[in-house]
Amino acid sequence: MNKCHTGQKRTGAPLRIAVIGGGIGGLTAALSLRQAGFEVDVYEQAPELTQIGGGINMGPNAARILRRLGLAAGLDRQGVRPLLTHQRRWQDGRTLQRAPLNPLCEALYGAPHVTIHRADLLAVIASGFPAEHIHLGHRLVGLADKGDSTEAWFENGAQITVDLLVGADGIHSAVRAALFGAEAPRFAGCVAYRGLVPAERIAGLGLEIGSQSWVGPGAHFVHYFVSRGRLLNFVGWTEHDSWNREDWTDRATVDRALAAFEGWHPQVRQIIAAAETCFIWALFDRDPLPRWSVGRTTLLGDACHPMYPFMGQGAAQAIEDGATLAACLAAAGNADPAATLRRYEQLRLPRVTRLQDLSRANKTRFHMRDGPGQRARDAEWAKAADRSPDALRWLYEFDAGVVDPMAV
Ligand SMILES: Cc1cc2nc3c(=O)[nH]c(=O)nc-3n(C[C@H](O)[C@H](O)[C@H](O)COP(=O)(O)OP(=O)(O)OC[C@H]3O[C@@H](n4cnc5c(N)ncnc54)[C@H](O)[C@@H]3O)c2cc1C
Repeated sequence: MNKCHTGQKRTGAPLRIAVIGGGIGGLTAALSLRQAGFEVDVYEQAPELTQIGGGINMGPNAARILRRLGLAAGLDRQGVRPLLTHQRRWQDGRTLQRAPLNPLCEALYGAPHVTIHRADLLAVIASGFPAEHIHLGHRLVGLADKGDSTEAWFENGAQITVDLLVGADGIHSAVRAALFGAEAPRFAGCVAYRGLVPAERIAGLGLEIGSQSWVGPGAHFVHYFVSRGRLLNFVGWTEHDSWNREDWTDRATVDRALAAFEGWHPQVRQIIAAAETCFIWALFDRDPLPRWSVGRTTLLGDACHPMYPFMGQGAAQAIEDGATLAACLAAAGNADPAATLRRYEQLRLPRVTRLQDLSRANKTRFHMRDGPGQRARDAEWAKAADRSPDALRWLYEFDAGVVDPMAV
């Protein structure tokens, strides 16, 4: 089999690539592409690199890519290695499933499972990429495929001409709209209360260094440590029919979150009550796209495959996208970049579509009303933990940075 890693030697002048969006997906792709030998610049609309929200899970499939990019020390310094994953019942705290995570993940898949604050993760990734190639305050407003190049222009008046353009500009992607037409994402019927709790405030709970999720009727609640264990991150999901930003912004208080989890186990309520900050986040959705690329422009991450965060894989898949894109381009050299972009999307589509489907199904499974369906689910989980590293071999073992150009 003709396999190729990023970094393979290519012929000709390096392609000049613009990545639009300096989020987790865009910055990691930029780093992957640069390490594969391309000339890469990132254009980010915000005046500084920022990530809203608290923590994020990095499964071994993503952690392996970050480590290969030279970010192992940063991940170890800022992240936490949860010992286990533990799912519990909303009211009485009964264990529904429990499985080890670390060090098992490293033994099985060559990389740990990491929980980390988003801002820390972004800073770790940015530390590997030259700051002079990150152009802040650049909001893309238009682009045009010129056949052998792509032009793009920005709100601040700047204009660029590059060999390839990658839209990593999130769920409201301007690049996606330019390629496939503007269409607003749909409210997915869920909002999340997100908060961070200083560890000393909940020391009395004696929490294990693990990722716990509590499932109940119409809601679920997840918590794990970030920031070297100094903070506990929580996300409490609840179902709602509608979302109106103005109506909802004032609901992001600790009291509102407590009201949303009325009657839940005391541990859940004590964690919410101890929060330093609490804010609300609405979940949006889009139908899967059948293709991501047009000519010399393509997409990655939430720009092309936003997914419910109920497999904890949205950012991980964006990281995988960048690794596969870099590997495909490295394998092809400068030959027919448009065809290479099509190959990249064909390699990625089946995997991200599967994860979109599984994430959607988990919304139903996690939010079951108490009754026969919920009891059947609990019995299934008791037989075999579906979140254990063994059960997720197909997900964690996969190496997105190693592609077979003959596979598509
Ligand atoms: C509550 C919650 C929990 C989650 N938990 C996990 C988890 O545990 N694990 C996991 O893997 N994923 C998780 N996800 C999903 C994950 O957060 C997203 O999939 C991921 O952040 C997407 O990254 P991205 O780089 O594609 O997009 P984004 O993070 O949205 O970044 C897009 C960037 O593009 C910039 N931008 C936008 N428009 C323009 C423009 N016109 N010009 C220039 N720049 C622009 C933005 O400012 C932003 O910096 C979770 C999501 C939520 C909501």
